[in-house]
Amino acid sequence: MYTLRTLPGDDVRQIMWRYADRYDLQMSVQSARGIARTVVAKLVAEGARNTHEWTDQKAELLTAFDQSGLTALFMDPHQGGFIEGPKNLALALAAFELAWVDGGAATCSLATNLALAPIHEKGTPEQRDTYMGQCVPPQPGEDREIRRGAFALTEPLPYIGVDTGVMCGKVRVAEWNDEDPILEVDKRGRFITNMDFANFVTAAVESDDERIKSSCMIILEEEDEGTYDRGAPTLKMVHQLSSTRDPVLKLRVPASRIIGGFEIKDGTIIPKYSHGEIIGSVFHRTRIPVGLMTMAKLISAVEPVIRYHRKRFQGGDAAKEGTPRFDHGIQMNEDALQRLVDVWASGEAGCSLGFAASRLADAFDPIEKAKEKLFEEQGVVGPRKQMMALRKLKDTVQEFVELEHLPESERDAARYQELKDDTLVQFAYMEALAGILNPATKLWCTGVGATVMREAVSLVGGYGITEDCPGFLMQKWTDAQLEATYEGPEAVQRRHMSVTMTSDVFQATVSAWIGQLRRVESDNPGMGAEATASALELWQWTLNHLQNTKDAEGRKLYHNKRQGVTFPMADALGWLLGPYYLILDILELKEKGAMNPVLADGIDDLVAFYMDMANVQAARAAGEAARICTELVYGFANGAPEGVEPFAGLKAKVDAGMAGARLSKDRAGKALSGVMIPEALDYPL
Ligand SMILES: Cc1cc2nc3c(=O)[nH]c(=O)nc-3n(C[C@H](O)[C@H](O)[C@H](O)COP(=O)(O)OP(=O)(O)OC[C@H]3O[C@@H](n4cnc5c(N)ncnc54)[C@H](O)[C@@H]3O)c2cc1C
Repeated sequence: MYTLRTLPGDDVRQIMWRYADRYDLQMSVQSARGIARTVVAKLVAEGARNTHEWTDQKAELLTAFDQSGLTALFMDPHQGGFIEGPKNLALALAAFELAWVDGGAATCSLATNLALAPIHEKGTPEQRDTYMGQCVPPQPGEDREIRRGAFALTEPLPYIGVDTGVMCGKVRVAEWNDEDPILEVDKRGRFITNMDFANFVTAAVESDDERIKSSCMIILEEEDEGTYDRGAPTLKMVHQLSSTRDPVLKLRVPASRIIGGFEIKDGTIIPKYSHGEIIGSVFHRTRIPVGLMTMAKLISAVEPVIRYHRKRFQGGDAAKEGTPRFDHGIQMNEDALQRLVDVWASGEAGCSLGFAASRLADAFDPIEKAKEKLFEEQGVVGPRKQMMALRKLKDTVQEFVELEHLPESERDAARYQELKDDTLVQFAYMEALAGILNPATKLWCTGVGATVMREAVSLVGGYGITEDCPGFLMQKWTDAQLEATYEGPEAVQRRHMSVTMTSDVFQATVSAWIGQLRRVESDNPGMGAEATASALELWQWTLNHLQNTKDAEGRKLYHNKRQGVTFPMADALGWLLGPYYLILDILELKEKGAMNPVLADGIDDLVAFYMDMANVQAARAAGEAARICTELVYGFANGAPEGVEPFAGLKAKVDAGMAGARLSKDRAGKALSGVMIPEALDYPL
């Protein structure tokens, strides 16, 4: 039996989440943590969440973000930032640190970036440099106010919400000229973050004029002619450290504010990008930090729960000093320890998935740009032509997927390198993977995370729902529901996944993962690799079966419109991704931790503990996925379905893969009872 000496610190996280060699990111983490545990924690403790209004007290947050460098984190150095290249991992880490204390504060720090994201992803170079440059704090010698933005996609009922294809925000031509026509924009926003203080809004609007084609996103400024009414504050019960209002905007703006630019053809303004194209690329990235915000809640709950459990009987007559009851309190009971392991393991698995998604987003950014350039050079323009060109590469991409997941010693190094250097192969692979990891991070981390957070609150009993519960657990639980809702609620993520998960490239990836996990199992038994592999195999078989089978009434099972089939399959996959990435992170910890001077000493114990947590999580995930698959395979038949014999065999393998999972839970729980925690929580009640 191993011992867990202390709760894992930065040395462990840096290895697992792969930023041990990124000093810039380590500094960002420190900045965000510093603010979270001082300014943010103080605001929450002082009751700043008790009002819907944006107050001077809450505005202290903005100053703190500006002074610590967080505001400039999204920008490139030439725009006043300090990190060159993609910043998805940087933003995810900062959001994680802030949400460790308060999700609203994390959202507040990200909201201007969300407003800038359409400009960043699809804006013209001038739009990008202008707006990004205005949103960094003034540099020494500069005399200007910092500007902040809001992102306005959603609108008042009954028009919009999940379905962003229908809009009531409109754009018309107010004054025609052939250079830069003046447009009138009419947009009523609903639930718009940052709206109390936003100086500009990036708004989605649809054409209401035959001289403008389809839809676009457009930049509105508070100085523009017309109405810039911030609207009523939302009376929300969560995330009160971010501002949310329902603005009314009716403004005249030049067409050059259309994000990405436009051309005029036969007297018609044709925006380069529709609002849908822009939103697609924005949400691709911005949803990842939201998932991680919920995961920060789960991991941050571990220490307060241990503290509460240990001290539960101290101070009364029931436990004399020096007795086990005095020292361990509720931790004398198996259940309290083991349920906390569940909370922690869920948090770790979600983090492994979310940080893998943000690293992939960083790697994908330059590849996406290189692909655009290459296609432009080759004259392959338009999404359709590009898709056809990529489809031709199917076999080569699948060959790469296989090589990517083989151990180095077993693959053809030259061929692997050749395919690694091929922009289009890399693009096709990464796009297929990001199409799963991004929505899955949002779906699983926030959706399942919210219910797991309830468990954390329950572990502190009545105290958990009081304002003085350490770690603000109750607030974090309710906050998690908003994280599950905004930037696309669960249905949007399920819809996204149910379309992308059937792609050949992703299916080849799942097959490669199964082989990879089986190799891990034989070298590192006891970390849930077999259960995860078998559940993925069962999931893949089920997907194939559903795609080729009809229900007892003769209706097609796997169909775009049949959310009762497609959505649960997305949920099942969501469960399995966490353990897969957690297993990879633990292998990284095992290898690199042994070489780390701080960790080397206790690395075997630490890895053993993590392997047990992975085993616990894998068993839970495999169980959930298998339950869903069983319901779908058997639940649409009258009586025994036909042709499902292989399913029974695969399901038995899932069950057998859970061997030892409960022993793992016993050990991990016991280790928790001995872990050393600091005297006091590092932020106020
Ligand atoms: C505090 C807060 C801040 C926000 N900030 C912003 C912001 O800054 N900018 C912005 O543009 N928006 C913002 N939003 C809006 C947010 O993104 C939307 O609330 C969200 O997209 C869901 O839309 P809705 O609330 O209208 O729900 P609805 O669309 O009414 O959905 C209700 C339920 O039905 C499900 N559902 C809906 N359609 C389908 C379907 N076709 N298939 C299956 N299920 C479906 C949904 O998943 C959900 O469970 C914010 C919201 C809140 C609460």
